[in-house]
Amino acid sequence: MTDSATQSETKSQAKAKPLSAPQKALRKLGLVRDIDLALHLPLRYEDETRWTSLSHARDGDTVQFLAVVKTADIAFKPRRQLIVTVQEIKLEALDPALLRGETGREFGESCTLRFFNFYPSLQKNLAIGQKIRLRGDIKGGMHGKTMMHPSIHPFDNELPTTLTPVYSTAAGLPQSYLKRAVLTGLDRCIRLGLFQETVPKAYQIGEMWPLAKAVQFLHEPTVGVSVAQLEDKTHPAWQRLKAEELLAQQISQLRAKRERQSLSAPNLSGVNLSTRDAQNAKTEDISKSTHSSLTQELLNVLPFELTNAQRKVVNEIAIDISKQVPMYRLLQGDVGSGKTVVAALAATQCIDSGYQCVLMAPTEILAEQHFKKLVDWLSPLLAKKNLSVAWLSGSQKKKERQQMLDITQSGQAALVIGTHAVIQEQVKFHSLGLVLIDEQHRFGVAQRLALKAKLQDQEPHLLMMSATPIPRTLAMSYYADLDVSTLDELPPGRTPVITKVVSDQRRDEVVTRIKAQINLGRQVYWVCPLIEESEAFDLVNATQTHQVLSDALPETVVGLLHSKMQTTDKKEVMQQFTAGKMGVLVSTTVIEVGVDVPNASLMVIEHAERFGLSQLHQLRGRVGRGAAASACVLMYSLGEHGRLGETARERLKAMAETQDGFEIARRDLEIRGPGEFLGARQSGAAMLRFADLSTDQEWLDWAQDLAPKMLDNYPVQAQQHVGRWLGHKLEYLKA
Ligand code: ADP
Ligand code: MG
Repeated sequence: MTDSATQSETKSQAKAKPLSAPQKALRKLGLVRDIDLALHLPLRYEDETRWTSLSHARDGDTVQFLAVVKTADIAFKPRRQLIVTVQEIKLEALDPALLRGETGREFGESCTLRFFNFYPSLQKNLAIGQKIRLRGDIKGGMHGKTMMHPSIHPFDNELPTTLTPVYSTAAGLPQSYLKRAVLTGLDRCIRLGLFQETVPKAYQIGEMWPLAKAVQFLHEPTVGVSVAQLEDKTHPAWQRLKAEELLAQQISQLRAKRERQSLSAPNLSGVNLSTRDAQNAKTEDISKSTHSSLTQELLNVLPFELTNAQRKVVNEIAIDISKQVPMYRLLQGDVGSGKTVVAALAATQCIDSGYQCVLMAPTEILAEQHFKKLVDWLSPLLAKKNLSVAWLSGSQKKKERQQMLDITQSGQAALVIGTHAVIQEQVKFHSLGLVLIDEQHRFGVAQRLALKAKLQDQEPHLLMMSATPIPRTLAMSYYADLDVSTLDELPPGRTPVITKVVSDQRRDEVVTRIKAQINLGRQVYWVCPLIEESEAFDLVNATQTHQVLSDALPETVVGLLHSKMQTTDKKEVMQQFTAGKMGVLVSTTVIEVGVDVPNASLMVIEHAERFGLSQLHQLRGRVGRGAAASACVLMYSLGEHGRLGETARERLKAMAETQDGFEIARRDLEIRGPGEFLGARQSGAAMLRFADLSTDQEWLDWAQDLAPKMLDNYPVQAQQHVGRWLGHKLEYLKA
């Protein structure tokens, strides 16, 4: 990259001096270049521009006053702390004229300060007789007024004239250090003209603030500005930043899309051009094609008919991968909608074309389940062509692994399935044509990148699968770069899952329900949120529950599965449950994604109030997979306040009211807001920092409209714009 933002990196970086703790923390936060620092905008603001006397303060008030230190001691009980008493110095005391010779008026009330973390420098500033300016919250305890960790400033009656920004920071990085670094970075950026406008005048709408002014203002807002407008980001300065951010995001995605479209990918029309007549390459509907392909054979051996939705999506993918432009597609479909078979049909089409396919899943359990299913379907068919399926996982034996690596490299493995082990350095493909990623939101973007880099001269096609759908409109507008296929129909024969929300006071009734299911020959999941007792939360842990259920159900095998178990033990437990040898499986959320045991008909989720909505939906999706009537019990426990929090209640209500994954996603969006929705789960590094799609749709529209114009007509500015915002993160965004 050659933009000036990169060149302005701080000089100290070039030298190989060891980094100090705050420098390391800065780096960890991604605050490396001046521009990164300048765009590290405040989280909130504090108003230090006014005095508030101690004597008027009530419990919970924020005060700011001058004081003198009266005593300073270190106590060791109940834990090590610095305890300081101070006495307020009244403002009048600074001006003898105001006192008119009266004594006793210069001092006000006393107050105790407590510090649990303190350094020698603080002790020095708080030595007896020191005068200071103090700011913090008052607690009116039994023993008089107290302040915990107030901020200490030099004794001065001049107050700041701008609001004080508070930045998000990390351990080892004091606010003051960070603030200095940010302001220095900002200064340099302004001087070097890095905030020069990139948006052509003609496209600036409304009364857009100049960028430099907006950034500067947000770091140092003048007194009198509405703090509310700053905090809810409706202030024009924030508006400008949001517009900038969304534009950067749209340009970079559009650019990535165009770049990808300029790359070549193998033609996976399902016809191996080296052996077959190219005439057959047409794939308007592969399920109707007549040649004896692996695809056709798979369709023949499948124990079910494809749903219409599956048929539609299979064809969307078929058309995509028969183009010589790499596919970049998200397949979203509710839990149980049958994504695996769609993936398998893409794989066979790839193999039919003479290329290898890789399938990556986020957990070993899930990867293995895919492996079993696909081996079951495909191995006999592949064997006829002298091809096989390879298995790669972190836990496999060295010898087996080597064997798998060998057949992957030789091309004998037409299909490679595994966990992230498939993207490790040693894995060499013979001719990778298609990459399938299951539950894509669980993978880091970097991992996806590594996988992509496997093919040298051609890009493989990429299909990502997700059971946590993004609401469609959001997907369309935000992911300018991604094509989306949707399975909007469940296979027939599913019985709806009855969802009950119950208090954990009714645990006994739940156990009775379990017994009834077991007696019918069905199986039960019981999910707990934590595996170890934690002092902080009074959670019933999986181990304890396992014990309780084992005692209550002496005739039933009760298994236990949690994330801290050895992989082989996990597998063993899972195998027993899948084979029906285990009646109840107590587990933490390791079973969240993809596990498929049709005989399981009851799902109990303990502390359901602690789970996110999409997680609950995923968990519930583990039952209702067979023909038997299934149920999900969401067991909540009331917190210390004796009631459920607002969002927890909304989530449980949504779960009870609907089973439609898209509706759930919509509610989730409503409850949490799209920033978090996209940020945490779908977009990896492409997170939005300032814009919020639920309130900033207008800016998104603006950015969407402008992005192609910028790329076509103002390429230099477009580059500058993206570099400024995304800088070193760019590499990831392309993945
Ligand atoms: P998910 O979309 O959650 O990954 P799966 O691919 O695991 O769903 O499919 C769930 C179950 O439905 C599996 O047992 C699968 O074999 C079955 N299935 C998939 N498609 C169909 C269909 N068209 N008809 C009947 N059963 C199907
Ligand atoms: Mg799946």
